[in-house]
Amino acid sequence: MRAFVFEHASDTADALARSAADPDAGTTVAARTQYLAGGTNLVDLMKLGVMTPAYVIDIAALYDELGSIDATPDHLYLGAMATMADTARVAAVRRDYPVIAESLLCAASAQLRNMATLGGNVLQRTRCGYFRNPGWRECNKRVPGSGCAARNGANRRLAVLGTSDHCIANYPGDFAIALVALGAQVELVDVTGATRRIAFEDLHRLPGDTPHLETCLSAGELLLGFRVPAGPWTRRSRYVKIRDRASYDFALASAAVALQLDADGTVAAVRIGIGGLAAKPWRAHRAEAALTGQRIDEASARAAADSEFASATAVGENAFKPELGRRTLVRALLEAAELEVSDE
Ligand code: SF4
Repeated sequence: MRAFVFEHASDTADALARSAADPDAGTTVAARTQYLAGGTNLVDLMKLGVMTPAYVIDIAALYDELGSIDATPDHLYLGAMATMADTARVAAVRRDYPVIAESLLCAASAQLRNMATLGGNVLQRTRCGYFRNPGWRECNKRVPGSGCAARNGANRRLAVLGTSDHCIANYPGDFAIALVALGAQVELVDVTGATRRIAFEDLHRLPGDTPHLETCLSAGELLLGFRVPAGPWTRRSRYVKIRDRASYDFALASAAVALQLDADGTVAAVRIGIGGLAAKPWRAHRAEAALTGQRIDEASARAAADSEFASATAVGENAFKPELGRRTLVRALLEAAELEVSDE
């Protein structure tokens, strides 16, 4: 690991001021200055030599400011410094937003969930083996313009939706898939102290010809928290994750589904996120449109999945993933439709 300056921020304003003091700050999450929250992704990547920040600002002290979880009739607010484990334990999250609790509990290990924060979790970086190994020269995400070793290499786990000729890496997280499905917003503050709230769906960028630019964050911009709108669909929600082993593994395919059903069983509203298969947390708008007004059964769920994956593009070893994605979405929809949901 290379030498770097390590500082502790006392509060949010202090963290922003320290970040703004970096004259060479970049414009991406790979900037010279990095915030350290739980450290479960950043420290890994620093050890591997993939991320080499000159300045690391420890923001653990921001927990009191940014660690709250608050459920109101209008929305669920999740502070960016809340840990994955604490969030999954909150009764209102488990009862009213089960897809969020399930997405958190099937990720990583208990030890990691105790350390990892929600803000850090959504910003975790791809597990593409070429990205995580600086010994490989070709990786446009790590070294812009160097090529993509994965296109003709080991790509079994990589993406089939939202990819480009320059990068086929998949977004690896679970919690973000629940957030994108539920139409969450993310609150941000930049180094001048200006705040903004954007759709979570717009936080991550597609790779295009600049795969090294992964989010719309400006240099030093900090995540404050997430606002998940309440709705009659949140209780009937489900997260299904398919992986090579039953725990402590990333998704080959996942689906976050929230349903509002009329008394006759037709779909009044549906929210769908797709994970493990796409270059960013993927909102399945085509599948949602196909299902609205339909009754959920094997045939309608399959037709919706087919519409979403019509644009899927595999490159070799990942040829099985579009079909796996379809089946995962069908299973999530059928399971969500069958849930017993209390009105209390
Ligand atoms: Fe790098 Fe993306 Fe290609 Fe992986 S898929 S080698 S992250 S450019």
